[in-house]
This record gives sequence, C-alpha cells and structure tokens, in this order.
Amino acid sequence: MVKLITSTQELLKTRSAETEVIGFVPTMGNLHAGHISLLEAALKDFDHVYFSIFVNPTQFGPNEDFNQYPRTLEKDLKLIEDLLINYPGKEVVVYSPKHPQEVYTDDIKNRVISVKGLKDIIEGAIRPGHFDGVATVVFRLFELVKPYKTYFGLKDYQQFLVIKRMIQDLNLPIMIQGMPIIREPTGLALSSRNQYLSPQQKEKSLLLNYGLKQIEDTLAGDKLNIPVARELITKLKNDCNWNYLELRDADTLDEDLSSSSKVTILGVYQLGTTRLLDNRQMELK
Ligand code: AMP
Repeated sequence: MVKLITSTQELLKTRSAETEVIGFVPTMGNLHAGHISLLEAALKDFDHVYFSIFVNPTQFGPNEDFNQYPRTLEKDLKLIEDLLINYPGKEVVVYSPKHPQEVYTDDIKNRVISVKGLKDIIEGAIRPGHFDGVATVVFRLFELVKPYKTYFGLKDYQQFLVIKRMIQDLNLPIMIQGMPIIREPTGLALSSRNQYLSPQQKEKSLLLNYGLKQIEDTLAGDKLNIPVARELITKLKNDCNWNYLELRDADTLDEDLSSSSKVTILGVYQLGTTRLLDNRQMELK
C-alpha cells in the first residue's frame, strides 16, 4: 500500500503511530530506476518505508534550475505502486510536502546544518551553499521521519559523504547505506536532468563515463600508477566540458593519497547548461 502525506502534521501523526523501525529514502522526485533501486533495497529490509519527494529550494543556487526541476508526483506514485506489487503486505509512506513551509517551519527556518571541510570543496566550490542546503534538509527530514536506516545513491558521492559525516558528527542513531549507481545501457548514469539533453548532447555525454573508466583502468588499483593517472586527468581536462575531474581519497576527499587505501574519481561533465555527475571508487594497494 502507498500512503501519500502532504503535510508535516499528518506525517508526525502517522509516524508516531508506527511501532516498528522504518527505512527512509529521501528524493526530489521525478523518479527513475536509480531512485527505485533505493526504495527496493529499503523494502527488502523493512515492512514500512518512508519515502520523501521534495524539491528542496535551499540546495539550489540563484541561477540554478529550481523552478524548472521536473515535478511529476502522479507518475512517481504509479512507479512506487508498481514496485509494491512485488512486495505484498509492505507499506510505503510518501511524504510530499505541498509547500516548503511544511518542512521549514518558523521554529527551524533559520537553522543551517553545515558539514565543515567537505562542503566547500569540489562540487561545493562550484555550488556555494549547496551542501548546507542538502545537510539542512536531510537533517530536518531525519528529525521528522526518525528512520532506523537511510539509503543514498553513490551517484552523488560527495553528498553521500556529507550525510555520512553529519550522522557521525551529530551522533545520530541512523544507519546509512550507499547504493550503486544505476546506468543506462550506454553507461550514462541515470539522472532526472538527463532529459534536458539533446540527442547530440546525449551522444557526447558518454565521454563522462568513458573518461572515468579510462582513469580507473590506468590506475589499476596500484598506488604506483597515481602519477600516470594524474597525467591522464590533465590530458582529459583539455576538453573544456569538464567542470572538474578529480582523483581523491574516497573517505576524506583529500588530494593527498599517500595513506589512502581507497580512492574516488569524481567528474562533472557539462553539456549546455546540464551538469552531469559521475564517479567511481576503487581500492588501492
Ligand atoms: P535526487 O532525487 O536526485 O535528489 O536523488 C535522490 C537519491 O537518489 C539520492 O540519494 C541520489 O544519489 C539517488 N540517485 C539518483 N540517481 C541515481 C542513480 N542513477 N543510481 C543510484 N542512485 C541514484
């Protein structure tokens, strides 16, 4: 069964009547197979799953696509209902607040949760305030939903690290699971923003995943290959569509890899106004 809730008051009432622990998946809606994979993982673990659909204004910059961001609630609910056919007896509570004021009530509207260190680098350097917006809304949703466990896509790898760090720093009693990136058969990571791409841009977008894979292959899990992988990154960045392409420590996002046992390659490839994010993680020996 899917239960749609559009007010915070009703959410709190429903949640407080719940006797079991629950799983939680926060999203901005316009669902695709990536989001559904998170929901499916939660449904495997819990009988009751809370799923939020909220286009959070505070994580968008002034020149970003907040107003244009696709809002497709009916289609989203249908996708969730279709998935639930495979999970008889389980329940998904969809919290889709009608107005931002439902989330940012007067008592907390000036509160900002800021994860120092991680929030200002790489993606955060290009989108000032973005990760404060993300951490603030996710903290608020955690506070309302009180999940036992939450599921985040590794597609937004820096976001995953920010939320993981927030949970640690604030000692929140919440487990977090990072979920693998779901891709189109071509290798392009699924994203609600892919629909902005023209057919020509779609073809060009394959250079993103291809570039990351080339770096991974060059690195081949061996620390000795870091200099040659960095040379390749410099060469690839001659294509000015890259906003950034970085090889970093997978836990701290530090540039210094001298004591790293796991690394991440993070890239954003921009086509027109559409920024496509992707990444890969690998162990190093
Ligand atoms: P969004 O609605 O874009 O904020 O995404 C909600 C959640 O879905 C986040 O945890 C994302 O990382 C995750 N997600 C988005 N796209 C994918 C994907 N292609 N594969 C796996 N998870 C994804």
